[in-house]
Amino acid sequence: MSEEQRKVFEGSSGSTAMALDKRRIPETESDTWHQSLDITPSDFPYLQRLMEESFEEWKRESSGLEMVSKSDWVIIGPKGEWVAGSLELQDYFLAGDDDTLKCVLEFKKTLTSSSEERLGGKTICAVPIFSRIHHDLFAVLISVSPAYIDSEQIQFMTESSAITLKVCFYRRFENIFIKDMTKLHRLAERDASRRSNLFQYVRRMHTQIDVDGVFTELLDSILVFYPYVNVHLFMSQDHQSSHPLVHPLLLHHWQEEVYVRTFMEGALTVCEDTEREKAEIGVPVGGKQGVYGVLHLQVKQDQVWEIDLELLGMMADAAGTAFENAKLYEQSNLMIYELRMINDLTQQLSKSLQLTDIYQFASDELLKILSAEYCCILSYNEDFGGLEVVSCNVPALVGEIFEKNYGLGGLVYHSKESMFLADYLEEHPMESKLMESTGSNSMMATPLMVNGEVRGVILLTHRKRHYFSYDNYRLLQALTSHIGLAVGNASLHAEVRWMANRDMLTELYARHYLDEAIHECQNRDFCGSLIVVDIDEFKQVNDTFGHQRGDKILKQVSNIVKTSIRHSDIAARWGGEELAVYLPGLGIEQAFQVAERIRLRVSEETDPRVTVSCGISEWSWEHDRISVESLFYRADMALYDAKNGGRNRIVIEKTEVSE
Ligand code: GH3
Ligand code: MG
Ligand code: MG
Repeated sequence: MSEEQRKVFEGSSGSTAMALDKRRIPETESDTWHQSLDITPSDFPYLQRLMEESFEEWKRESSGLEMVSKSDWVIIGPKGEWVAGSLELQDYFLAGDDDTLKCVLEFKKTLTSSSEERLGGKTICAVPIFSRIHHDLFAVLISVSPAYIDSEQIQFMTESSAITLKVCFYRRFENIFIKDMTKLHRLAERDASRRSNLFQYVRRMHTQIDVDGVFTELLDSILVFYPYVNVHLFMSQDHQSSHPLVHPLLLHHWQEEVYVRTFMEGALTVCEDTEREKAEIGVPVGGKQGVYGVLHLQVKQDQVWEIDLELLGMMADAAGTAFENAKLYEQSNLMIYELRMINDLTQQLSKSLQLTDIYQFASDELLKILSAEYCCILSYNEDFGGLEVVSCNVPALVGEIFEKNYGLGGLVYHSKESMFLADYLEEHPMESKLMESTGSNSMMATPLMVNGEVRGVILLTHRKRHYFSYDNYRLLQALTSHIGLAVGNASLHAEVRWMANRDMLTELYARHYLDEAIHECQNRDFCGSLIVVDIDEFKQVNDTFGHQRGDKILKQVSNIVKTSIRHSDIAARWGGEELAVYLPGLGIEQAFQVAERIRLRVSEETDPRVTVSCGISEWSWEHDRISVESLFYRADMALYDAKNGGRNRIVIEKTEVSE
């Protein structure tokens, strides 16, 4: 018999958990295995309690038998020690009549069958009880009966009582083993069910590709295993979740909190609060790359022993690995999404070489991709020396030019560094018309770099605080670099187009451009005029001052022409020192006034002083033959007349008007 079971004999039977001594269980299990169990002399010192209980049981069972109830009963141990029985006889047997005791003991020594001894008017009969297999004497049942009962009857009654008592004893004895077995079986069943649940849990975890799904699975499973615990999951970093039991793990306060300690130490922590009769358990949830959070359980102190910490550890580990996988899956999805967005955006951007289109398209796309409320693209305007709003979904801001030091845009433009604001009101690094006029609180901005130089700034905002994520910020930076490339291409294209249509010396349009422009106007407008401007005696100027001075004068005259006309008028170098200005929609009188302004200014502003002669022609939709050639021819003829008429004058198609 095991030490544990001996304790059961001593204490109250079966109420304490114990393990069965497996050596006693027959290898082939059968229904009668418990009948082959027996006590040995080494168990005798522990039998007291079991004997007492058996005695009580026997007495209950035999209470209906008249003869039994008329007698007093005592059980003594194999060494004559008191075990159980009528207490009034205890003194009598232990300290009372020596002869009686001696008699009983002697009797016991030689006893092979029952016997009797007459004493003090009572009949005493003692029957030995032997163990059922090894036949060791382990108790003596003694009856003390009134003398009037027949001694044979007494002997018979005592012997049969000894048999019943032995049956009671062995029933209780077997019961201990059966209880053990049942308990062991229950534990084994619970373990098997836990193993199976754990297996199912791990399998479900492995199929999770969603971070929130991992959290839900872990928390739900914990509550299935331990429905009575109060469970929470604290996650570090930016693992936000909509699950009500998932909270951010903030390390700056509450260093004494169990879950903070668990996170810092990365080890399972159990903390018992005896005053509040509660216990807290912190289990780190980690994977290959570290600890991501802590599973926190609160439980009544008397329930803590029911919690299988090893099981919790395994569950948290599986959750940690599944979390890592789901996160990786999420990240790779995000990367695929980002690449697709970048690809789509660059494809769309490359369709246009018009800067205004590019800015507009970029702004629309950024709003969509990053789910922002407002987008503002600023570009440095050289003419005004400020940052111009080239695209914005706040109509009031479009076209506005800010000082290049102003606002958040100015800050980013100067630092050439991206900027991220989660709460504008709280952080407020600089005033900002965009933020204030839209009531925005979240902002991310990035410099628009073109060929390594900062060209402008892209700003995205939202009214909600803490709206944008770090992933949004990264994506904006990636997208902006592609927008920069598109802006660079469009600028280069515009420059090439500008150069292709210009005369390099005067920076006026080239002749072919003028031809095409007049042709287009003639298809579109009702009328238009052409002024041909020729410098008088220019050969002589060259001869006098040299060719380089001649070039400078040509530039001066060109600038006077440029600044004397409307934005919609087109000034070109017609050839040599001859210039031409086409005035769309103007009649000959208005054209004359323009020519006159030019003629006057040239005669006053050039150095060395030169003069020009002009010939003017016009066309109108009423004319029969409208052509660029005819227009030039007639203006040229008029110019010829002006030269012949003495120069420094303007001639309108055959009509000389002024000096
Ligand atoms: P006018 O028109 O008054 O009849 O006399 P003009 O001397 O200006 O006319 P002409 O057609 O005889 O000479 C035109 C001169 O313009 C010849 C050339 O030296 C000069 N010229 C033409 N193109 C350029 C140029 O690009 N640079 C300079 N410096 N001179 C030029
Ligand atoms: Mg000339
Ligand atoms: Mg000429």
